[in-house]
Formats: sequence, C-alpha cells, structure tokens
Amino acid sequence: MLTDTHAHLDYPDYAADLETVLERAREAGVRRILTIGTGMESNRRAIALAEKYPAIHAVVGLHPTNVEEEPGDWLGELRRLATHPKVAAIGETGLDYHRLPSEKLPSSPALSALQAELAEDTEAMIVDGSYRAAQAEAFSAQLDLACELGLNVVIHQRDAWDDTVRLLRPYTGKLRAVFHCFGNLPEQAREIFEMGHLVSFTGIVTFKNAPLVREVAASVPEDRFLVETDCPYLAPVPHRGKRAEPAHTRLVAEKIAEIRGVSLDQIAAATEKSVAAFFKLS
Ligand SMILES: [Zn+2]
Repeated sequence: MLTDTHAHLDYPDYAADLETVLERAREAGVRRILTIGTGMESNRRAIALAEKYPAIHAVVGLHPTNVEEEPGDWLGELRRLATHPKVAAIGETGLDYHRLPSEKLPSSPALSALQAELAEDTEAMIVDGSYRAAQAEAFSAQLDLACELGLNVVIHQRDAWDDTVRLLRPYTGKLRAVFHCFGNLPEQAREIFEMGHLVSFTGIVTFKNAPLVREVAASVPEDRFLVETDCPYLAPVPHRGKRAEPAHTRLVAEKIAEIRGVSLDQIAAATEKSVAAFFKLS
C-alpha cells in the first residue's frame, strides 16, 4: 500500500471524473490520498472530499502565493477547519519568492530613464518587501497554529530556502515538517533532517533533467521521506506533461526503489510507517 501525500483533488481538473481517478489509484495500490488545501475555499472543498471518501484525508492551510488574496479572519477560519476529524496536518504553507509582485509593476514613461529606474527600484523594494513580510507572517501564524493543535506541517518552499529555514528553526522539537516536492541540494536536506523534518518526492524523480533530486532520493534515510504526486502537476514519465493523478504515486515509488536498489514493497513499507508517524489519521 502507498499514500499519495500531496494531491490537489479539489481542483477543477478532477470535477468530471474523480470517481475513476480514485478507482485507478486503488488499482495501483495507492490506498490513501492526502488532498491539500491552498486557501479557505480550497480547504473547505478538501474537507468535503475527505468526508465523502474514506481513502481521502485533508490537509488545510494557506499557500504562500495566496496570502494577499485571503480576506478577513482567515486564521480563525483555519483554526476551526483544522479541528475537523479528517484533517491530518496543516499546509501547504511556507514561502515562495519565485514570482515577486515587482515583476508586474508598470514602468513610468513621464520620468527620465534614470529617475524611472530609481523609482522602480524603490517601488520594487516596497512591494516585494511587503509581500515577503505577509508570507512570513502567515507562515509563522500557521506554525503556531500547528503547535497549538498538535499537528505537523506540509511546507511549500520555492526560491526562499534561507528565510524558510530561519522561520522554522525556532519550532525544532515542537513540530515536524515535510518539505514537499523537494528539489534542493543533499546538504540542504541534511540541514532539515537535523531539525527533525522530512522531504517528499514527486514525479520529478523520473525526469531526465533531475539528477540532483535522484541523488537526494538515493541517500535520504529510510525514515525521512514520503512520496507524492502534487497532482494535477508534475506527472511522472511516461505521463509527463499530462494531468497527474494519485495512481502515479506508484511510478514515483518504483523509481525511488530502482534508485535505492530495493523492492517497491520496501519503499511502501518505509513510507507508510513515516506517513502513520507524521500525519494525524483518524
Ligand atoms: Zn501543492
């Protein structure tokens, strides 16, 4: 048995054929799916799916790229949702500096080139700074909430490694985090293992251009990794470019088994043990 620890089944991509998607997962040995909320609406949909299907559990949180779109007391609402019996963790939360708001700033044609450049630099600093601050505040608030509720945390980190680790470090020993879709260096993996955290691998392990991810997958301790799809994104080879689905977790696990020179059963046993220890599964 395998668990897809990171799926987005509430996305419209599955509206038409979720039942068959779940059936294919079951046939592939993927008997449990964690569907991850990215905002309050998405969290509510994730919980509704978990209520309807025994194989599905929900993870609720506010994705870092959505922090400026969530009106009102989202933290109060998240606290309420997180106490639902089928909520298994808080997330996805974290930091994402991949696309900063300054990229979308209009240029100022009335000013001289130099003045315009200075104005744009200043404005970029201000809008990017406040965006980063909003992400940091939402991330820390969700880490506090996880501690309060005794839950672990699913982390999304993109182009923001140092700040993510800096904000997470004070929680060492109080909670555990999984760095989902891990794509960083082996030494960065070791840095978070020292703090008690885990990594999780997607279909990227099957991509030709991802030798570093395979290097991490080859060396990570058996009790420090999970498997996931991040579906509908990142479909593994031979489905690359198409819609991913939870059944593909098996391809991810098979690839990791091949890399580590062990059987699929061994990967399944190791990751299931970690899933049971990490998530609150009612
Ligand atoms: Zn995700």
